[in-house]
Amino acid sequence: MSGTGGTMVDVTESAESEAQQTLHRVFGYETFRGEQEAVVDHVVAGGDAVVLMPTGGGKSLCYQIPALVRPGTGVVVSPLIALMQDQVDALRALGVRAGFINSTQDFDERRVMEAEFLAGELDLLYLAPERLRLDSTLQLLARGKISVFAIDEAHCVAQWGHDFRPDYLALSVLGERWPDVPRIALTATATNATHQEITHRLGMPDAKHFVASFDRPNIQYRIVAKSDPKKQLLSFLKEEHAGDVGIVYCLSRNSTEKTAEYLCRNGIEAVPYHAGLDAGTRARHQARFLREDGLVVVATIAFGMGIDKPDVRFVAHLDLPKSVEGYYQETGRAGRDGLPSTAWMAYGLQDVVQQRKLIQGGEGDEAFRRRAAAHLDAMLALCETADCRRARLLTYFGQEPQTAACGNCDTCLTPPETWDGTVAAQKLLSTVVRLKRERGQKFGAGQIVDILLGRKTAKVIQFDHDQLSVFGIGEELSEAEWRGVVRQLLAQGLLEVEGEYGTLVLTEDSGSVLGREREVRLRKEAAKPASRSSKGERKAKASAAVAELDPEAVPVFEALRAWRGARAKEQGVPAYVIFHDATLREIATVRPASLVELGGIGGLGEKKLATYGEGVLEVLGSFGAAGPEAPDPGPAPAPHHVPAPVPGPPVAPDADPEFGWDEEPPEYE
Ligand code: ADP
Ligand code: ZN
Repeated sequence: MSGTGGTMVDVTESAESEAQQTLHRVFGYETFRGEQEAVVDHVVAGGDAVVLMPTGGGKSLCYQIPALVRPGTGVVVSPLIALMQDQVDALRALGVRAGFINSTQDFDERRVMEAEFLAGELDLLYLAPERLRLDSTLQLLARGKISVFAIDEAHCVAQWGHDFRPDYLALSVLGERWPDVPRIALTATATNATHQEITHRLGMPDAKHFVASFDRPNIQYRIVAKSDPKKQLLSFLKEEHAGDVGIVYCLSRNSTEKTAEYLCRNGIEAVPYHAGLDAGTRARHQARFLREDGLVVVATIAFGMGIDKPDVRFVAHLDLPKSVEGYYQETGRAGRDGLPSTAWMAYGLQDVVQQRKLIQGGEGDEAFRRRAAAHLDAMLALCETADCRRARLLTYFGQEPQTAACGNCDTCLTPPETWDGTVAAQKLLSTVVRLKRERGQKFGAGQIVDILLGRKTAKVIQFDHDQLSVFGIGEELSEAEWRGVVRQLLAQGLLEVEGEYGTLVLTEDSGSVLGREREVRLRKEAAKPASRSSKGERKAKASAAVAELDPEAVPVFEALRAWRGARAKEQGVPAYVIFHDATLREIATVRPASLVELGGIGGLGEKKLATYGEGVLEVLGSFGAAGPEAPDPGPAPAPHHVPAPVPGPPVAPDADPEFGWDEEPPEYE
């Protein structure tokens, strides 16, 4: 479609490749995105490919179009059995002949699929990796014609990763048995090491590598100081994401359940999800999440891989992820549809203490602990940075940020002030030294801060800490500020926590601060967390056609949404299988008057136009004429979806709500 300008018809027609025709006709999209076209062309021509694209980058088309263009069936290997039905439903809604074979089917269902495959009646066949190990499966595949092998979530082959699946190792057999069938391995895991492991273990030395930008411009990154996490979460949800679908991540099973209960009590529909729930409950909660508009899932990291729900509007973290990789992967589940979304995290001193304790007390040898500590340090640096978070993230993954300041993260929207914390650091470190040197004592952050503030608590009196020369030398800062100092010194490696009680001890570098050889720069603790609207307008950089809806399009959008909900219910599929939000927003804004005009909307291919076109026009019909004839509504009132400013979190004066729900071990499946 590009570059042919005003040339005559025939030239334009023939210049359009079969892949482009498929993109328009089946998927209803105007142009390929980023690397998609290069990948598709390479695979259609029979080449192997390793594709690294962020979540929401559009990996699926990279194998679906070659599968449709090349003769035979595209075989997709995916570990996500629970999601295969939805994936296949979504493809069928586009008129693609798709099917799957996995353990959820009974014998007869499987037989039907096998027969369709052998008869050449399938464009795409989804398989779980454990099935591919079976001789019977390999024999079945050998009797049919295969257009391409797609290995989805290819990082599952990486042995040291979170998601390792031993069955993936057997996939190297594909290249040996089908040397002429192109293979495409896809992942959203960004690290170079994983990339190389994929190439090596899948036996794809000649594959061409495609690496997309890992930037997710529609996601707004925000990390706020933790004071009362559940209340902070509640106001974040109420003020900015009322009625939106989202995921809240917690470390422990217990806190997912308590947080979900708390949200429900406060009028937000939420369900927990963790590996300790029975399989039936897990499946039910996941299915509800995929199907319902507006459900919040409060989960451990057991939830999320491969959840390709496009309209997740926020991902919130109540606990610190263990690595930047984890943070990026989890937050990446927001906004696959390209519309504005928020990655929000509350982070505090206790997170640092807890994670450091976990590493020290955890399993694994010294090398493992060192690696874990390095991962944590990188995560802490991201939390404590005064620079653009997006730029930090991209740099971490070895990519050049487009600009030094993205304008769509909290540090860009509300630049944090920094201050010279050298004297404060010295006061704090000397208190730690005094206790250790003069009395052989070690205490946690709470006691140290009480001493600095000159508080005569029972525990201070019990240990005669009001007799220390450092007692009360830190009254110029508040408790929250002192906790911020401790947290940042921990993050900078100038202080360390030790043992089961999280006592504070000096590090090798502390000496240089005490000896005045080194300045310590600290971030000011924000009086109130930066909010989306803190700089007035928000920079929406969504790639979707309509990020913010015009006020007069809002009722149309809502009516279309209701109509879509009814269709989805009738058919027992998630709403996004009918239409994505982005498509509905564009329809509501453009208000096409005919099927032909409707066909010009992104995401409306031939099949969907035929199935739903009339229904959509009927909904639009009830709103009367639109477009240029519509009267000028005058100056626009507040645009849709721009949230009101968030009030600062309530400050709890003496309780220590930051200290989580419980001391239960976190979950790392
Ligand atoms: P990934 O698997 O990489 O996370 P998907 O394949 O699910 O991403 O695509 C993410 C979203 O982008 C989907 O909603 C998809 O329909 C949409 N999309 C993909 N390619 C295009 C394109 N060329 N034009 C418009 N939308 C696209
Ligand atoms: Zn930024």
